[in-house]
This record gives sequence, C-alpha cells and structure tokens, in this order.
Amino acid sequence: MCGIVSYIGKKDPVPILLKGLRRLEYRGYDSSGIALLNEKTLHCIKRAGKVSDLESLIDDSPINGYCGIGHTRWATHGEPNDINSHPHLDHTKKIALVHNGIIENYDAIKEVLKSRGIPFTSDTDSEVLVQLISELYYNSNQKLSFEDAVRAALQEVVGAYGIVVLCEDEPGTMIAARMGSPLVLGVGEGEFLIGSDASPIVQYTRNVIYLDDNELVIINDDNYSISKIDSKNIVTKTLTRIDLTIEEIEKGEYPHFMLKEIHDQRHSISDTMRGRFNLNDGTTQLGGISDYFSNILLASRIYITACGTSWHAGLIGKHLIEEYARIPVHVEYASEFRYRNVIIDSNTILIAISQSGETADTLAAIRKAKELGAITLGICNVVGSTISRETDAGIFTHTGPEIGVASTKAFTAQLTILIMLALKLGRKKNVSKKRGKNLIRALRHIDQDVVSILKISHEVKEVAKHTYEADNFLYLGRGINFPIALEGALKLKEISYIHAEGYPAAEMKHGPIALIDKNMPVVCIAPQDESFSKILANIEEVKARKGIIITITDKINYSLKPLSDYILIIPNTHKHVFPITCSIILQMLAYELAVFRDCEIDQPRNLAKSVTVE
Ligand code: GLU
Repeated sequence: MCGIVSYIGKKDPVPILLKGLRRLEYRGYDSSGIALLNEKTLHCIKRAGKVSDLESLIDDSPINGYCGIGHTRWATHGEPNDINSHPHLDHTKKIALVHNGIIENYDAIKEVLKSRGIPFTSDTDSEVLVQLISELYYNSNQKLSFEDAVRAALQEVVGAYGIVVLCEDEPGTMIAARMGSPLVLGVGEGEFLIGSDASPIVQYTRNVIYLDDNELVIINDDNYSISKIDSKNIVTKTLTRIDLTIEEIEKGEYPHFMLKEIHDQRHSISDTMRGRFNLNDGTTQLGGISDYFSNILLASRIYITACGTSWHAGLIGKHLIEEYARIPVHVEYASEFRYRNVIIDSNTILIAISQSGETADTLAAIRKAKELGAITLGICNVVGSTISRETDAGIFTHTGPEIGVASTKAFTAQLTILIMLALKLGRKKNVSKKRGKNLIRALRHIDQDVVSILKISHEVKEVAKHTYEADNFLYLGRGINFPIALEGALKLKEISYIHAEGYPAAEMKHGPIALIDKNMPVVCIAPQDESFSKILANIEEVKARKGIIITITDKINYSLKPLSDYILIIPNTHKHVFPITCSIILQMLAYELAVFRDCEIDQPRNLAKSVTVE
C-alpha cells in the first residue's frame, strides 16, 4: 500500500519524483504529493486523485529544490482528500514526512500533542508522527538532534511504517526508516533514491540495499549510513544489483498493464519453469528449497498461507501436493492463521505465497510459524522482498514485475511453481517417471496453448458484449478447478465491480441456485476429465433455471453445445495444467467485461497491489 519515492543528488528532483510516483501508482492512487527542500525553505504540493492531477498542479505552479520526497496514497485513516494527502508537515512547516503503513497508537499520541497546543490539520495517523518528531526536535529539554528526534519519535509509535523525512533546518539530510513497510535504498553516482520498491530507482541506479525492519538510513550529501532505529548500531549491508528493465515496468503498446500481463503469459510461464525441469527423469529441480527438501518430504503436515489471489493458488497447491506427495495440506488465509491457535511443530512446513513478498498478514503468519518451530518456505515474485528474506528457503516465480492491480501472470506463475513442487515431491515418493514426463510435456507446451487462447479474444469480447450489464455472475468449477472458479469471480469483482461468486459446482444447489434466473450469467468450468459428466449435470440444472451459460471447456462436445449460450474452447491439456490455461481465459473475460463497463482497469477503486497493512 502506498508508494514512497525520494531523491537527493544533483539532478532536478521534480521529474524524478513524478516519474517515480507514476511507477508506484499501482500501490495506491487516492492522492499524491511531493515536498522539496530548496536553499531556504520547504515546499509541499499535494492533491487528491491521480499522479496526473498532481502533475497538472505542478505545471501550473512549478516548484524546485535540491532534494525531495513523494508519496502516492492508499488511505487507511482519513478520507482521500487534499488535506489528508502526503507529505505531511509539522505545525512549524519545517519538517515534511511521507509514511506508508499504520500508526496504531496515533490517537493517544495525538491527544497528548493536542493538549500541548499543537494544531493538527489532517485526519491521518501519519501526521502524528511528523508532529511528534517536531515536538521532540524543537521543544524537548534534551535538545535532541534531528536524527535523534526521529529515532525517539519512532520508538514511541506502535504499528507499521516506512517513512522518509526532511527538515528545513537540516539541509542536505534525508532520513528514512522502516518497520513493517518495505523501503529500498538506491545508491547512485553522487545521488540516492529511496523507494517502496525498486521501480522508481532502476532508471538511475541498479545498486540497491533492501532495508530490514528496525533500520534507519541517514543520507548526508554524498554519504549514507544505516543503523538500528533503537540502538544506533551501524549495520553493514551489501549492495544488491537489480536486473529489472525499464520495458518490464512500462506498458508499451498495451492500453492497460493488465492486458500486457495477460499477454506476457505467452512466455512468462516458461520463464518461471526455465532451468527447472529434468525431463529424462520426469521431475523438476528447485534449487531454492534443496536444503529443506528432505524435511518437506517427511513433513507431517503442510500449511499454505496467503491472501487474495495467492490464497486461490494455495488451494490448488493443496490439491496437487496431496495428489502427488500424499502429505496433508491445510490452506489458510494469512490474516486468520496469524491469530488462530494453529497446530504447528517442527514437522510442520509452512509455505507462504505472495507476489510482492511484502503482504503484511502473510509476513506475520510466517513469523508466527517460525516462532512455533515450523520450517517456512516462500513462493514470491519479488527478489529481495521481505518474505523472501525472512523465510528459511523459497522459490521465486521469476515472472517479471506485475503492475496491474488484478494479479494475472503472478497467479499462473504461482500455480506453475506449485505443480513443480508437487511433482518433485511425488517423484521421490510413488509417482512414476512416466507420469512425471506427461506432466512436464504438458507444461512445456504451455506457451503455444496461451497463444491459442489469446487468439480467441474476439469470442471472449463477444461474450462480454452480451453480458456486461449483468449485476451478478456465478462461477462454477469442481475439484482442482473450484479455486479457479473463485479466482475468476475475484478477478471480475476487482476490475469490473460486478458482484461474482465462485462455487463448487455441486454445492450450487445448496443455496446459490436460488439466485439463478434469466439475468444471471453462469461461467461453467467444464474440462473433459473424469468430472465432466458431473459438471454437465450441474450445467443442466442451471439451464433448467434459464441462467445464461458460459462454458469453458477444452474439447468440443455434442452435449455441451445445446446447453451453452456461449462456449469458449481452450486447448486440451493435462488436467493439472488446465487450471493455468483456464485462469487465463477467465482473466480475459474479466478484462473485456471491465472494458465494456468503462472501468479503471489498472487502478480499480479502493484496491492497491501490495497490501502492506494488516
Ligand atoms: N496510514 C496512512 C494514511 O492513511 C498511510 C497510508 C498508506 O500507506 O498509503 O495516510
């Protein structure tokens, strides 16, 4: 949630901050703003709405300075208006702060500060922090330095933060600190950047340092130093080289990042698999977990924990791991897992799935499982992310940056990893080489399958054209495709604001069938596998109630045709690869429906990509 970017160096910070904010906009787009220090004063300019609104404001009244901080907000406390936008200034207007996270005890601190006569202007939790820093810097008996005032303030607050602060009385100094919300320091030639992720940094330098919790960086002109927030102990950190390319973070000729990322799946699934097959032996190689592989094989149970789309991947992971490796798997929302009295011992493996590797609840679940003695594994996309660093081992999805708020290629990459993991475990147990080879062959064919699916986008558009005015959609799937029904429904809700539910097809008659009438589109996932005759019967039930039937299948079938209002036929593949291909056509359907409804596809209302708050 929320994007932070800051710059200190010899260039004009304004275009750097604005470009950075545009790159970070996927993290939040309620408002944006920048604060700049020039020789004499601090200037702050901010407004509700998109970064483009801020740009027009700056075009009308240009500002300048030699260093600056910027923020694009996903509001947690206080509505998304101009005043609540970041940066926030203290009442002297000499200190500016941007904040990502939630200050949980803001109310109590605010009361104390107000009783001392400090005026507040916003409803945010974040303003409390800048006012507290100001109070400690300008008014404490101990005559604290600016750095010490920041440290002292941070020790008073409870909650999560990634912050960057500037002070008019400390020209040339920028301070950033992290507790729970990600921050990356970019170390360039005579310039430094700080970002919520590397996307605003990569254009200027590829050398970065990922801050860890309880770390604070002070940049003073040409130098930086990293220390603990609470002890001033210097922390020595190594520079990491990032290999992100600019093309990967721009949408090129596509109208939306989501469409670009749907199309990326022509190669991104292969990118995820690259170098990880052993076809001769019908198995896979997953170097990232090799140290813990025997522990996984001998585990008494596996928990998979995640949020949102990644949780759906987890449900499919359960199906696959239980099928191939015969190890019991429990899938839990991280937000529930972290507060539940879960049964964990040293024979438990926890697999955490998160595209960003920063999801706050998932991170908390990992920490809890670790404390209870479990071995923790991460399946993440972002190299260097907190989850990838805090888990004992893990597997990167290597699908490239995903910017569209609605996850597409990250989901199919997660499914790919889970198939590969299940197969690897299974091959060490009773799964035959032949079975392994069959699965690998299907996976290796996936690029062509995706190309074929993309080719029927005109058919998908046709379905969307006739159904986009519906208020509700139902998605039905069975077995391994039930989570795909959930994911299809989630995609639709996220970007088109149509209410949608995913259901196990047979479960429909225990409730949702009451909703079906001639206005209800029902997406029926009907692969030609052993569940086919059952799902066919469920489709008949929908037909009898006059629902609009949209069938997704992988083979033309004489009985499906007369039942369906629309049929989308995708390539026939292995039944455990079908969830991947099927999810792609559902992504396309959600996308086309959202286009017809004229929705903000890459920036759906109220959502943000990386949920770094609880
Ligand atoms: N809690 C702060 C606010 O509501 C920061 C939110 C964010 O991370 O964007 O302004």
